[in-house]
Amino acid sequence: MTEAATRQAPKVAKKKLQGYVGFANYPNQVHRRSVKKGFNFTLMVVGEAGIGKSTLINTLFNTRVFPDKDESTIGETRRGVEISSMSAEIQENGVRLRLTVVDTPGFGDSINNDDCWQPILENIESRFDAYLTQENRVNRSKISDNRIHALIYLIKPTGHALRAIDIEFMKRMHTKVNLIPVITKSDTLTQDELVGFKSRIIADINYHGIQIFKPQWESFEDPEVINENKDMLSKIPFAVIGSDKIIEKPDGNRVRGRLYPWGIIEVENEKHNDFIKLRKMLVCTHMEELKDVTDSILYENHRSQKLVTMGHEQDNTVFREYNPTAQMEEERSVHEARMSKMESEMTAVFQQKVQEKESKLKQSEEELYARHKEMKQVLEKQRQELEEKKKRLDSQTRPITPLDKKQKKGLFNLS
Ligand code: GDP
Repeated sequence: MTEAATRQAPKVAKKKLQGYVGFANYPNQVHRRSVKKGFNFTLMVVGEAGIGKSTLINTLFNTRVFPDKDESTIGETRRGVEISSMSAEIQENGVRLRLTVVDTPGFGDSINNDDCWQPILENIESRFDAYLTQENRVNRSKISDNRIHALIYLIKPTGHALRAIDIEFMKRMHTKVNLIPVITKSDTLTQDELVGFKSRIIADINYHGIQIFKPQWESFEDPEVINENKDMLSKIPFAVIGSDKIIEKPDGNRVRGRLYPWGIIEVENEKHNDFIKLRKMLVCTHMEELKDVTDSILYENHRSQKLVTMGHEQDNTVFREYNPTAQMEEERSVHEARMSKMESEMTAVFQQKVQEKESKLKQSEEELYARHKEMKQVLEKQRQELEEKKKRLDSQTRPITPLDKKQKKGLFNLS
């Protein structure tokens, strides 16, 4: 690598101002520009049918983001996970927020839920890919950000611990999205049950190395902000209740809550549940951080992995000054290194082939020699057998000798 390519950004010296300049007003400029442009935020919500998704989202944004359910479709079994999104533009004190809620009906509703995380992961990744395509366009003035900025994963209030489907889902998602686990219908658990349930969930999350979104407070200096964040952190996973009903209390106050024979449980009462904390983190204090983490960590990881798999090389240099000669030099050395690598690979392949051929030849030579030896032995054996046969025949045939007197007498009966 050349010297220019590895050079770091110059050190910045701290200077004191002699008088008014005006850049302290910069945050106000950003504020005005942002208010004018409005914000967008995309939230995905995952949980089984009937777990309380629509009620919670409608309660969180104080508006009917989710339309009322068609009575006839409640409890209908679905074939698989579908992805649908709803967008709403909401305004508060002149600030416009374009909220998109991505719903995942059908998650965990089948008999076999082995791969029900798959379409959700594909959807998150395809949104990253669409953003990457927009970034690579020549004209990038109108990039629309449809990436998922946070995923609320709803946990059934079983009171036990995380189920296999919860663990599998979170393990598959945590590197792709800001995960916010939330216990729904917390009014179905007593205070003690909730404390135990939360601690078992945290233990499971830690045991499986799942990264969930946690509010950061180390970088803040204000003790109030630090305490607020620490308090928020202590409530994770948030246990909430949802309700889109306004109820009148005996004292005449009207509150959002659920009415039971024994009393009212209030959504916006911190003593009753963690709804306020969840809304505060999601909307009031950490929306920008959620978007920032999505952009600078989650999307960046996805983007660099994608580019590497497409054959691009990772460039780890911090600062680069454009120098055509140096760049050509660098490209040439990269090319040469690639060529010499290719050459050594080819030599290795050639040597291996020669070795294989040689060992094959040696093997067939040995086989031929063994066959020759065997045939020689067979022939030798046959020769020996013939030899023995001949000897036997020779010993059976006696030589003809002239008859003596006695024999002749016997033979011709001479007296
Ligand atoms: P979804 O299918 O996941 O969208 O679930 P819904 O939001 O339609 O809720 C299903 C049922 O659960 C409805 O009858 C809701 O009134 C009820 N529900 C929602 N939130 C809560 C809650 O916090 N506590 C209790 N007890 N019931 C709830």
